[in-house]
Amino acid sequence: MSGYFDHNATTPMHPAAREAWVTATERFWHNPSSLYREAAAAKERLEHARERLSELLGCEPGRVVFTSGATESNQAFLRAMAAKLPTDARVLTSSIEHPSVRTPLRLCFPGRVDEVRSLPDTTLDMRDFHCVLGEHKPALVTMMTANNECGTLLPWRDIAAACRARNIPFHTDATQWLGKLPAHQLGECDYVSGSAHKFGGPKGCGFLVLKAEDEALCLQGGGPQESGHRAGTENYASIEAMVTALEAVTPELDETAKVQGTRRDAFAAHVCQGIPGTRIVAQGALRLWNTVMFVMPRHDNRKWLARLSQQGFSISTGSACSSGSEGASQVMQAIGATPDEMRRVLRISGGWDTAAPDWSGLADAMLQVWRSLEA
Ligand code: PLP
Repeated sequence: MSGYFDHNATTPMHPAAREAWVTATERFWHNPSSLYREAAAAKERLEHARERLSELLGCEPGRVVFTSGATESNQAFLRAMAAKLPTDARVLTSSIEHPSVRTPLRLCFPGRVDEVRSLPDTTLDMRDFHCVLGEHKPALVTMMTANNECGTLLPWRDIAAACRARNIPFHTDATQWLGKLPAHQLGECDYVSGSAHKFGGPKGCGFLVLKAEDEALCLQGGGPQESGHRAGTENYASIEAMVTALEAVTPELDETAKVQGTRRDAFAAHVCQGIPGTRIVAQGALRLWNTVMFVMPRHDNRKWLARLSQQGFSISTGSACSSGSEGASQVMQAIGATPDEMRRVLRISGGWDTAAPDWSGLADAMLQVWRSLEA
């Protein structure tokens, strides 16, 4: 039985990924840039991993640049674009982006960031999007594919098409989408960020898809690796494990979404029935199959967290990197929630193998914690 319900923060390594990592570390640990035979073998496997990933994403292998994760991909990309675009260039984004997009946007494009409104169900206001796209004529659009807090899906294919029609580059942070929903059309976006540890790969490994292989976009200077896009010795073992993890979960995606989505919904209904006044954020929106974000009727979310943790259940109060700070939910801010509501938010995110008894065990534990907090 597993009490781990924080898969949007990180996931355990997929067994196939672990095996791939161990083999790569034992046999192909040489520097892929060196010139002897063993290094050439590592280089060859690295390039093979790039091809396999590009197949999964529906893009050319040369567009894939390996990085240390989505934070690096997002930040380095936005910094590189800021250096390349005119100094008065405006950027269009959503109001529910991850801090790894929001912070560099603020720093790199000061006073030049426009946000598309979120509707009360957390979805993107598409009327506002088309309006702002036409009025502000952004030089770049960056919008996530799926939200990390409440799981809301953004209509990224429509956004990509609208940007394409106006010749505006479009970047998407696909960190939460990858491994949960089909990825083979993501190559339609000009730029895509991803992170291995969100889908059963190792931490400290990710990628950025570029618009074109020969694009002069330097994420990190100081060496010729990654065709000059990102200097630094490639972490081949982790890259191999990342690609193996995505290959392992991809064929099961439809079935997983169906089975886990049903379990998640039954769990959420159980909690709402047992704890009157509980609200589900983004309930009517298209969401990731593994995520549910509650606003509990009473009691600080840190109390909920601590008591559930005592019972062996790991959940979150919002996005993992900001769960230590007060009122941190970006989604709740975007939909105009009060500070009091924000303190009552809980995020539950199941995984690929979360069993029905795990979900019902968490529901029972929440009802028990509710009774103990009310007592
Ligand atoms: N983007 C989103 C939507 C995320 O959920 C996260 C992690 O929570 C990140 C970016 C950062 O990913 P990484 O841990 O690979 O830096």
